[in-house]
Amino acid sequence: MFEAADHQDIRAAVRKLCEGFPGEYWRRLDAERAYPSEFVAALTEAGYLAILIPEEYGGAGLPLGAAAAVLEEIQAAGGNGAACHAQIYVMGTVLRHGSPAQKARYLPAVAAGTLRLQAFGVTEPGSGTDTSSIRTMAVRDGDDYVVTGQKIWTSRAQHSDLMVLLARTTPRDQVSKRTDGLSVLIVDMRAALAAGMTIRPIRTMMNHATTEVFFDNVRVPAENLVGEEGRGFRYILSGMNAERILIAAECVGDAKWLIGKAAAYAKERVVFGRAIGANQGIQFPIARAYANMRAAELMVKEAIHRFEAGQDCGSEANMAKMLAADASNEAANVAIQTHGGFGFAEEYDVERKFRETRLYQVAPISTNLILAYLSEHVLGLPRSY
Ligand SMILES: Cc1cc2nc3c(=O)[nH]c(=O)nc-3n(C[C@H](O)[C@H](O)[C@H](O)COP(=O)(O)OP(=O)(O)OC[C@H]3O[C@@H](n4cnc5c(N)ncnc54)[C@H](O)[C@@H]3O)c2cc1C
Repeated sequence: MFEAADHQDIRAAVRKLCEGFPGEYWRRLDAERAYPSEFVAALTEAGYLAILIPEEYGGAGLPLGAAAAVLEEIQAAGGNGAACHAQIYVMGTVLRHGSPAQKARYLPAVAAGTLRLQAFGVTEPGSGTDTSSIRTMAVRDGDDYVVTGQKIWTSRAQHSDLMVLLARTTPRDQVSKRTDGLSVLIVDMRAALAAGMTIRPIRTMMNHATTEVFFDNVRVPAENLVGEEGRGFRYILSGMNAERILIAAECVGDAKWLIGKAAAYAKERVVFGRAIGANQGIQFPIARAYANMRAAELMVKEAIHRFEAGQDCGSEANMAKMLAADASNEAANVAIQTHGGFGFAEEYDVERKFRETRLYQVAPISTNLILAYLSEHVLGLPRSY
């Protein structure tokens, strides 16, 4: 029903891998709020998490569309790539802006899966979406930076060896542009945990290994500064298009899984002597969700095409993320409604997917901020924030 033309070989192989991780697997982890270590190990082993790392560093060196295909298929099989999707793209900050020494030190190990680089510390409790207001400070002291502050929603921090951290290196009142004076540091969390860093898990409505991270005078070697001091905001921004496109692909996968479940149940469930799917009141919402998923899928393809061609894709990446998150959210609602009371029963996995895909209305960027971006940068309306 949902054949996608691109990267068919990869898609088929990922589908096969996911057969080993059926609904029962994800359901058990969800109940225990446990990390899918076996699934992540299988993806690592198969090389999918190194798919974007250039061959010279031991990765597959494939384009973004291949990574999107992997993540879409995981979701379309009922799994949840959020446990490790960042291992695919967080390394992009090092690849694009790191020094030759940093690339040589980290990328081969990330590609081999012996080093996990999947924690990304940007959001803070006090600043919200306004990244330029972050308060975590990194103060230069000899050969180190001394980091003090707090991050929130730092996902996978307990399952990562390194963190890409955004911190202020020059106080906001001493820079002419508020986005200046921010810097990116690679934090070795194994060392930091023994020297002032604390990680506290946050229990959320879905199984997402997210945390708060506290820095109390944590020393980070100055050689771990990525690029130039003070230009970190640009480095973080430059990775956002890839992240948005990949998460949009995941939402398309979620929508496919949910629509498939809804259609299958509508055919099989008999009420008043006939399949509920014979009623337009049941079939039309599923058909509408399908149409909206396909439209979102086209925007994801457009964003991938522009990204791979090296063209500006900021608006397409944002639109793809918004439309795909809307499509998966709609499909989740429709799937629950189609299942009636059983939509709420854990054994159908529909309520789990409903909870999981709801996140993407908010993270990694919330819908309002995408609309604000389009209003300002595409439509030329006044900046509203
Ligand atoms: C499970 C989870 C995992 C996450 N993982 C990570 C991670 O690994 N690393 C990381 O750095 N961050 C992570 N995040 C943070 C995520 O990116 C933010 O939650 C998200 O960007 C929204 O920021 P906020 O929560 O501070 O909301 P706020 O900025 O407080 O906004 C609250 C609401 O107000 C709206 N709003 C705010 N300003 C405006 C405005 N000017 N106009 C209209 N509406 C506005 C927003 O759209 C939102 O709906 C994660 C979040 C969650 C929930």
